[in-house]
Amino acid sequence: MNAPIVIVGGGLGGLACATLLARQGHQVHLFERASHVGGRAVTQVREGFHLNLGPHALYAGGRGIGVLRALGVPIKGRAPLGSGGVAVRGGTLHGLPSGFVSLLTTSLFTLAEKLEAARFLANAQSIDVAPLRDTPLRTWVESRFAHRRARDFMYSIFRVASYCNEPDRQSAGAAISQFTRAAKGGVLYLDGGWQSLVGGLAEAAGRAGVVIRTHASVASVLHDAQARGVVLESGEQVDASAVILAVSPRFASAIAPRISALRAWADAAVPVRAACLDVALETLPSQTTFALGIDVPSYVSVHSAVASLAPRCGAMVHVARYLAEGETATAAELASDLERIQPGYRRFVRHERFLPNLMVANDFAEAGRATPGPEVPGVRGLYVVGDWASSEGMLADASLASAKRVSELASRHALAGHATDETRTQSENIDGTHDGARRGFAHEAARA
Ligand SMILES: Cc1cc2nc3c(=O)[nH]c(=O)nc-3n(C[C@H](O)[C@H](O)[C@H](O)COP(=O)(O)OP(=O)(O)OC[C@H]3O[C@@H](n4cnc5c(N)ncnc54)[C@H](O)[C@@H]3O)c2cc1C
Repeated sequence: MNAPIVIVGGGLGGLACATLLARQGHQVHLFERASHVGGRAVTQVREGFHLNLGPHALYAGGRGIGVLRALGVPIKGRAPLGSGGVAVRGGTLHGLPSGFVSLLTTSLFTLAEKLEAARFLANAQSIDVAPLRDTPLRTWVESRFAHRRARDFMYSIFRVASYCNEPDRQSAGAAISQFTRAAKGGVLYLDGGWQSLVGGLAEAAGRAGVVIRTHASVASVLHDAQARGVVLESGEQVDASAVILAVSPRFASAIAPRISALRAWADAAVPVRAACLDVALETLPSQTTFALGIDVPSYVSVHSAVASLAPRCGAMVHVARYLAEGETATAAELASDLERIQPGYRRFVRHERFLPNLMVANDFAEAGRATPGPEVPGVRGLYVVGDWASSEGMLADASLASAKRVSELASRHALAGHATDETRTQSENIDGTHDGARRGFAHEAARA
C-alpha cells in the first residue's frame, strides 16, 4: 500500500489541503503541534463574546470562499455597511468616503483632492495591473496623485485591503488587485468568528477520513531528491508519499534545513504584522462603528454591529495598527484610537486583550520578487501551503488558493509514485516467474 500524504500544520491551509486530498481517495495524515487545529483563525469565547485573533474579515469575492464552499463549510455572516464610518486625520474625525456621495460631502479633502480620488475610484476596476507587478506601490501612487492628502487616502485604502504597510516595497499591481477585489465583492464578518471556518473545515476533514493528530510537532522532513516522510519531536518516524508544509517559511526551513529554496524563501520573507486590541464591551457608548486612520495607520471596527459575536447589548470591537517592518505600537495608542470614536468606552469593558505583534501574513507580494512555491525546487513531492505561497489573492485567500493548487499537484505526484511502485511490483513478479521457470528448467536439466 502507498504511504500516506503527510501535512504539517493544521491551520486553514493545512486543513483544506488535507480534506481536498482525502476526497480524492488519498490516505492523509495531518500533524499539528498545538492542542487544537485552526492556527491563526481560532476564536476565543469569553462570556458569550467571540474574540478573533485581531480583526478578521473574509473577502467575499476572493479565492478562499470558493474553496471553503466547495468543501461544504458553512459561511454565515454579513457585510459591514460601507456608509457611516469616519476617517481620522490630524486627530480629527471626517466622513469616510465610501462612495461618490460621501466623497463629495466629506470634509477630509479639498475639491481638487476629491476629484483626484474620485477619478481613481471610478476607474480602479479597469486598471491593467499586470505591468504594475514590479512597481512599488509608492512609486505608482506618487506618480498618479498630485495632492498629499489624496495620496494619504490611497495608502490608507490599500492598507485596509491588504493589511500591508510597506508602500516602498509592496507591488502596486498586487495592492490594486486586492483593493478592487475587496471593493467589488466586499467582505464578510462571520457569525461566531473565524472558529466557524475552523470547525467547518475540521468536520469536513473528519468526514473525508483525514487522520488529524494534535500535540504532534514535526521536527524534521526526511528527503533525498524526493520527500520520504517526517520525524516527530517524539522521535516517531512517519513515511510519506508526499509532504506538504502548511507552516510559516521560517518553520518550513527549520525542519528541512538542507533545502536551499526553503532557506532562501525564509530569508526573503517580510512578515505583515499588526498590533491588535480586542475589546468586549457591555454596551457601546456611541453609534460610530468604523474608523480608518488616514495619516496614522489605524483601524477600529465594531464587528458585532454586523455579525453575531456578542451577547445582547454587548459589542465586540477590534482595534489595529498596521506595522511597517521594525515598527511597534503601544496599548495606549490603540486605546486612544478607540476612545476617539467610542468616548468613555473604558467604563464598559468586560474583556480586553492587547496583542502587540501579530503575524497577519507570513509575507507579501513585493515588487520584483517572485512568490514562493508551491513546489519546492530540488525535492519531488514536497510542497508549501500558506498565505506566503500563492499570488492568487492575499491572507487567507492565498492560503486556501495554495491549498487547492497543492492538492492537485500532490495528488498527481502520489498517484504517479503509486503507479511506479505497482509497475515495479509487477515487473518483479514477471522476473520472479521467469526466474522460477529458469530454475525449473535447471532442475529438469539436472534430473535428465
Ligand atoms: C491580526 C490578524 C488579522 C487577520 N485578518 C485577516 C482578514 O481580515 N482576512 C483574511 O483573509 N486573513 C486575515 N488574517 C490572516 C489569516 O488568519 C491567515 O492567513 C490564515 O489563518 C492562515 O492560515 P494557515 O493555515 O496558512 O497558517 P496558520 O494559521 O499559521 O497555521 C499554521 C499551523 O501550523 C502549525 N505548526 C507550525 N509548526 C509546526 C510543526 N513543526 N509541526 C506541526 N505543526 C506546526 C501551527 O501551530 C499552526 O496551527 C489575519 C491574521 C491576523 C493574525
